[in-house]
Amino acid sequence: MRTLSLPRFKKKIPGYITENVSEELIRLEDLVKIYDTGALKVLGLKRINLTIHRGEFVAIMGQSGSGKSTLMNILGCLDRPSMGHYYLDGVDVAGMSPDELSLIRNRKIGFVFQSFNLISRTSALRNVELPMTYAKCGRREREERARLLLERVGLGQRAEHMPNELSGGQRQRVAIARALANEPPLLLADEPTGNLDTAASVEIMELFSRLHQEGTTVVVVTHEEEIAAFTNRIIRFRDGLVVSDKPNVPVNAGNAGAGADNAGKHARGGPENAGASDDTDGGPKGGTSRGRRICHAD
Ligand code: ADP
Ligand code: MG
Repeated sequence: MRTLSLPRFKKKIPGYITENVSEELIRLEDLVKIYDTGALKVLGLKRINLTIHRGEFVAIMGQSGSGKSTLMNILGCLDRPSMGHYYLDGVDVAGMSPDELSLIRNRKIGFVFQSFNLISRTSALRNVELPMTYAKCGRREREERARLLLERVGLGQRAEHMPNELSGGQRQRVAIARALANEPPLLLADEPTGNLDTAASVEIMELFSRLHQEGTTVVVVTHEEEIAAFTNRIIRFRDGLVVSDKPNVPVNAGNAGAGADNAGKHARGGPENAGASDDTDGGPKGGTSRGRRICHAD
């Protein structure tokens, strides 16, 4: 069995990146987001107080417009709060500069989007390599790690394929491999199954379950109860506020009523669990940040 070590980066990185001080991976204090559209100010998030511990698997639910994406964009350091504090791994990132935030994104956060956001006309392998390129990881290590990551999500045989040669579920698995590239502690996914059929959705949620079991903190936005059912905690939003926050006993795929071939298998790290035959066990945790030339692959 091949395993991956932590990526070796050539560039020295600041202390706020390397510190792993807090059991509370995420802490939001009186967090407010106001969208100023000129004539109109829209309250995206009203006043959020929320803690997510290292190793949790959380679903964020709520109707359209309730603030889920606003929250995820702030958690993912893609956007900044208007007021309040966001402590990520013990460091308040709310007041950080765009450059500092992009470094944090690259090292601490993997983001998975509903529309995959792969770079078209670029192989699965190169897509997965991209965050490592930004992190100044050497070429040979980059490629080796990208291949192992693709194996890890069950796509070892598809490394040279272009996004348009892959199914939706496979594209999303490439995106997850890319999100894992720099082994960040936090994986965020905004409606990751929104463009997928039921069987592919189950495969993706099983993959997230496995990553969670291997230690990654996973936060998934969904409006489907069947998807939230895979997680250990369900937080519900309405009108920019948390209206419910409850632990959940995760169901396996069989109980979720999804009916994929591999339903019900939740063995830790087992190859069948990623829903593909050429998956491999072991390796890194974590994810990528958004690349500079992101475009939709579908
Ligand atoms: P959800 O993801 O739950 O559907 P959003 O977080 O996208 O909800 O939106 C929450 C609120 O913020 C909505 O009222 C939405 O119209 C508003 N909003 C989101 N993004 C913007 C933006 N860029 N400019 C102005 N208003 C926005
Ligand atoms: Mg949304």
